[in-house]
Amino acid sequence: MADNKLYDILGVSRNASDGEIKKQYRKLAKEFHPDKNPEAGDKFKEISYAYEVLSDAKKRQLYDRVGLKGMQEGGHDGFGGDDLLSHLFGGGLFGGFSGFGGGGGRRRHRGEDTVHPLKVTMEDMYNGKTSKLQLSKNVICTSCGGKGNKTGQAPEKCQSCNGCGIKVSYRSLGPGMAQQVQSCCNDCRGSGEFIKEKDRCGTCKGKKVCNETKILEVHVDKGMKHQQKIVFRGEGDQQPDVEAGDVVIILQQKPHEIFERQDNDLHMKHTISLTEALCGFSFVVHHLDKRDLLIKHPPGQVIKPGDVKIVTGEGMPIYKNPFEKGNLFITFNIKFPENHFAPEPMLKKLETLLPPRPEFVLPQGEHVEEVDLVEYDPNDRSSHSGHRGEAYASDDEEGHGHGPGMQCVHQ
Ligand SMILES: [Zn+2]
Ligand SMILES: [Zn+2]
Repeated sequence: MADNKLYDILGVSRNASDGEIKKQYRKLAKEFHPDKNPEAGDKFKEISYAYEVLSDAKKRQLYDRVGLKGMQEGGHDGFGGDDLLSHLFGGGLFGGFSGFGGGGGRRRHRGEDTVHPLKVTMEDMYNGKTSKLQLSKNVICTSCGGKGNKTGQAPEKCQSCNGCGIKVSYRSLGPGMAQQVQSCCNDCRGSGEFIKEKDRCGTCKGKKVCNETKILEVHVDKGMKHQQKIVFRGEGDQQPDVEAGDVVIILQQKPHEIFERQDNDLHMKHTISLTEALCGFSFVVHHLDKRDLLIKHPPGQVIKPGDVKIVTGEGMPIYKNPFEKGNLFITFNIKFPENHFAPEPMLKKLETLLPPRPEFVLPQGEHVEEVDLVEYDPNDRSSHSGHRGEAYASDDEEGHGHGPGMQCVHQ
């Protein structure tokens, strides 16, 4: 059934004269020109294509007779339709033509890439590793040389898709506009060809390709990163008349127990006791190459919670320059002693070793009120405001235990 789409795009009637079409095209082309109207790029293309067809007497005649769909299905080689159709269907217009090897032999292109994720440990990325990856792929059948038949003759056109390899359907986008939705023909798997049962190659059963298992050696080089791609050119599925795509391995770094990676640097957290924070410490970091890094910090060099120190040159090796390395960042967490870790007289003694307290002046007068500090439990709803009444009630029950806290105040 013929359609009206191209006329609608230009906004002219079916029996518009060449002059009218030209005039209308000029007007719309001006209005939707990408220079003026950068968002209307697709609209501009549609206008141009509609004009291209309707301004050519031969093309217009054919279009009037069979419509866009008919032109696509029929192939209609008589008028150089290939050219036009590849514009209409290859240029992204009306839904576009997306990556399968169809097209009845006209639009040969590169096959799709085969993408495989490969999980690697941080140790592998530090030391380098060769992984063997087994994958199955289609290769051109050697028995028939990819022809699919025994006779070696050109096969017949697929009846289902008329040799296009594509089936086309329309989806309405609104008045006068439709999006063309294309799918690969199931009967011929997009080849556009049909081979009689008795003529089919015995090895590939007419599919032209056979499945083969292949082992790829994937070299994970020192310093490679998460999401880095390793490409094996032309190792993708083979198809007759199509350049094989690539096998693309995408590295997926597994999380590490100790280290986090940021670019070429490694980051880790380390918890030390308050005693170590004040009086010095040593500890060992088990590195990714199995070395034990001995890290020493002298007494008196105080580490505060959240302090970051760097071990230079102990980060990840730099890709393609593995003798250079990033840095290792260590963020310190300080574990404070538990409550009542020492009897009070000992604490007084400890205080003599610590820097003196800041001076405290006890306020005097009627307005001064002594209050208690209570433990705060974020999960305990009664300690949140809005439940004040309950909070006061619990103050009374456990208030005594916290009294001594106030005694630290100078008396
Ligand atoms: Zn074969
Ligand atoms: Zn078909």
